Amino acid sequence: MKFYSTNDPAHRADLPEALFRGLPADNGLYMPERLDPLPAAFFAELPDLSFQEIAYRISAHLLGDDVPAEDLKALVYDAVNFPAPVVKLDDQRYVLELFHGPSLAFKDFGARFMSRLMGHFNRGNERQLVILVATSGDTGGAVAAGFYQTPGIEVVILYPKGKVSLLQEKQLTTLGHNIHALEVDGTFDDCQAIVKKAFLDEQLRSDIRLSSANSINISRLIPQAFYYFEAYKQLGATGDPVVFCVPSGNFGNLTAGLLAQRMGLPVHHFLAATNRNDVVPAYLQTGVYQPRPSVATLSNAMDVGAPSNFARMLNLYGHLNGKDPHAPATHAAMQSLITGYAYDDAATEAAGREVEERFGYVIDPHGAVGYLALTEWQKEHPATRGVILETAHPSKFKPDVERILGHSIEVPERLAELEHREKVAIPLGTDYEPVRDWLRERFV
Ligand SMILES: *Cc1c(COP(=O)(O)O)cnc(C)c1O
Repeated sequence: MKFYSTNDPAHRADLPEALFRGLPADNGLYMPERLDPLPAAFFAELPDLSFQEIAYRISAHLLGDDVPAEDLKALVYDAVNFPAPVVKLDDQRYVLELFHGPSLAFKDFGARFMSRLMGHFNRGNERQLVILVATSGDTGGAVAAGFYQTPGIEVVILYPKGKVSLLQEKQLTTLGHNIHALEVDGTFDDCQAIVKKAFLDEQLRSDIRLSSANSINISRLIPQAFYYFEAYKQLGATGDPVVFCVPSGNFGNLTAGLLAQRMGLPVHHFLAATNRNDVVPAYLQTGVYQPRPSVATLSNAMDVGAPSNFARMLNLYGHLNGKDPHAPATHAAMQSLITGYAYDDAATEAAGREVEERFGYVIDPHGAVGYLALTEWQKEHPATRGVILETAHPSKFKPDVERILGHSIEVPERLAELEHREKVAIPLGTDYEPVRDWLRERFV
């Protein structure tokens, strides 16, 4: 598979380049050159395939020319080693639980797949690879767990001191081995600025092989398509159209659903559910795309004011109309397939209580936003079955969820045990030079 840039359809990169570069030089985003439907035999066998086998077949369909079948199968089976169960709320509404991985959020799928793919292409390379990543919380935990003990790869995570939750911090700082945490006495933006400087430092880059684990890496998007097929399989074919409702921030998850549909998954419609950061729902409604600074909400993993994957969505539906989001044909194409909804924190809290009262199900604030969107959409489309992507385990937002529900909630063992582990982090200021010096000392 070759990948082109959303900024330049003529640009081509092979898989290792797209994987290790993350971003094309023109600052676009990589897209797969071809998105053909999966063969009819795949859909015929789908009801009997395991989640791991589904993931492998999709991977082989996309990347079969790049990774030998046996290697690909082994790495995919290893990456997708936890389930994605569909839980029924009622006959029309279902929850797809994406939180059964090590960091309890869907980002585990992307991080585990990326780390194993990088490990594969890094094999036999004498020089170790250093992944440098800034995190505001969630991404770092998934990357740390995903790359833990990957041979030949060291991971350095920069996080803002005092600005991530206790458990998030423990996810970054307690693994050890090849996972290193740098605690920056500043903000997330300071962390990102340091990472940017490191990538622009020619001297450093000639001495250390640096790469990123950015959320826009195409290798994080591909595995997110797997679970749409897995959910569809679990629902079984009853004839009622299937709708996916995606709580969204940077719109990677929703874009992965669009890829799944291009690969032949019979999705009737997508719902883009956001909090008050509603630039995409507003675009879908009005045709005017206006990114703006994000505002803080209860569903904070969706507090994004300029969603990075919007460029990919435009590209999928507007490739004939250029890059202008305001092209009427592009807007019409997206509107026919995706409906956007946005809710404030008060509505989100009420939805969390409603889901527990009506169905006995504890949903996290991101999933609660999804529940609102699906419920609203189904008022006008009753003969459909809707799947809400539950993007994180509610215990990741324990204080808020307990306050909303008025009782304590269960914390899975793999999260609870972190509390007693010892934090190891290197304290640093906001200057670049000490970080550079630490990197040189450690890896040159
Ligand atoms: C990252 C994240 C999201 C947003 O996903 P996108 O792919 O960026 O739209 C939603 N919920 C949770 C819990 C997340 O961690």
